Amino acid sequence: MKSHRLTADNITSLVPKGAKGTYHLGEMLGNEFCVLYVGRSGKSLRKRLLRHAKSGTYGFFNFRSCSGNRTPIIRECVDFHSFANLNNKIHPTTKDSVARCPVCTILIDFESCIPTDENRLERNDYDTEK
Ligand SMILES: [Zn+2]
Repeated sequence: MKSHRLTADNITSLVPKGAKGTYHLGEMLGNEFCVLYVGRSGKSLRKRLLRHAKSGTYGFFNFRSCSGNRTPIIRECVDFHSFANLNNKIHPTTKDSVARCPVCTILIDFESCIPTDENRLERNDYDTEK
């Protein structure tokens, strides 16, 4: 899987302004991109990735832009179940629609999941994104 170094320069040159979609964060193990975190942004992939770059937790990223409200969350669910050893602590959720995860079939609307202290920060992240 192709990946790019997670820098502000790479993000602004590669990720179209206003693009929505899903992304992977991780590290390179030799020539292989090891995915450690999956995410999505329904508003701005670029802004979200820039925030990750600033935090400095991960060194590399890739992304897929997509349109529509349902596609990104469904893709994020599939990604969430596709990679072993992710740092994501909670199953992807959305405020935008009520749906079931295509892999494990749990309800993925935001309200049906009970927040814990561990993932509150991540949830706030969704709430404040403009
Ligand atoms: Zn699932």
